[in-house]
Amino acid sequence: MKRLYWTSPDVLELEVTVATAGDCAVTTEPVLFHPDEGGQPADLGAIGPANVLNVEIVDGQVVHRLDQPLTDGKYFARVDRERRIHTAAHHTAQHILSGIAEQRYGLKTTGVHIGLERCTVDFDQKVEWETMVALETAALEIVMRDLPVETAFNEAGVRVRDDFKPIESEVVRVVKIADCDKSACCGAHVASTGRIGTIRVCDVETKKQGTRDSYLAGAKALEYGQLETNTLRRLRQLASCSTAELPSLYEKALSQTKEQAKEVTRLWSQALPSLVASAQVVEIDSSPVGVQVTEMPPQLVAKLAGMTAEAHGAAVVVSGTRIAINSQTLDAGALLKKIQESLGGKGGGSPKAANGSLGRTTTVDELVAILKNSD
Ligand SMILES: [Zn+2]
Repeated sequence: MKRLYWTSPDVLELEVTVATAGDCAVTTEPVLFHPDEGGQPADLGAIGPANVLNVEIVDGQVVHRLDQPLTDGKYFARVDRERRIHTAAHHTAQHILSGIAEQRYGLKTTGVHIGLERCTVDFDQKVEWETMVALETAALEIVMRDLPVETAFNEAGVRVRDDFKPIESEVVRVVKIADCDKSACCGAHVASTGRIGTIRVCDVETKKQGTRDSYLAGAKALEYGQLETNTLRRLRQLASCSTAELPSLYEKALSQTKEQAKEVTRLWSQALPSLVASAQVVEIDSSPVGVQVTEMPPQLVAKLAGMTAEAHGAAVVVSGTRIAINSQTLDAGALLKKIQESLGGKGGGSPKAANGSLGRTTTVDELVAILKNSD
C-alpha cells in the first residue's frame, strides 16, 4: 500500500486501482486520501462516481467509506483540494510550532487537534503568553524560508508525540523540516513550509499540568486577523483613542460600571420598604399573595420576597427572568413550579422559599392569571 499523501502530497488527482473492502468501502493503490488519524481529519473527495464520506485505518489498511458501492477496477480519484490544503497547512504549522517549542523551550507536545475552524497543540508545561508570541515569530521565519517538508522512514533520534501510534509497527514514517523538526508522524503535510502562508497563535489556556495553544494558518489566520482588526478599529472609533490606549480605557469603564452598579443596589435597598407597600395583593386559595415585577438588581429579589411575605403572608417577586417566592401560608416550591409550567425556567425550593429563573420576562397581570388558574 503506497501512501502518496506521505511522499507526494501535491498529487490530489490520479487514476487508482480500487479493491472492495466491504459494503460501500474500498482500498486503493496507491493511496491518495489521508485517513482520520493523528488529530488530522480525513480527506474527502470522490473515487469514480462515488463520493468519499470518510477514510479510516482498518487493520492497518486505509479504507475509504463511499456513498455507493464500486466494483474492483481502475477509477479516477480526486481529493477535495481546499480541505486538504487547510488540514495539511495546519498540520505542518503544528510541526513547526512543536519543533521550535521543544528545541528552544524544552516543551514536549502531548496532543494535537486539527479542526476545520480551530486547531490546537498541547504542551506538557505551563507556557507564558510572551513565550507563545516569540514562538509565533520564530514559526513565521520557518514559513518564510520555504523549507522542504521531507518524508523518511525508520530514522533514529526523532521527536515522538505522546499520542503517536505507528500504522505499521516495523515502519515508522518520519517527517523532516530542515533544522526545525524531525518527528514520527502519519499525517499529510504541505510540500514546503512556504505553502503555509502564515501562522498565527490565537490564544493559550491552561490544560491540566500543561498549556493548550490555539493557532491558525494560511487563509484562516488572515480571516482571524481581519476579524480582530475590524473589532479593534470599531472600538477605537467608539472610544476615540489609539489601540494602545484601549486596555486602560476599558479597565476604567469597567471599574466605573462596577461602582455605579453598587450605587444602584444601594438605592434599591433603601427603596425596599416602599416596594413592599406597592405590591399588588391577590387572593390565592384564600391566602393573600403580594406580586411584584420590578427592574431591581437580581441579588435583591429574594430579599424583597422575604420582606413582602412578612407583610402579606406570601410573595412572588420577579426582576428580569429572576424569580423568588416566599410564603408563610402557601407552598412556595409548588407556586414556582406552577409559574414555570407556563413560563419555563429552572430552580426550585421548599414550601417556605423558592428561587430560580423564568424562560422569559413577564408582567404582574400574567403572573396573577397563572397563579389564579386552578387547572
Ligand atoms: Zn505530521
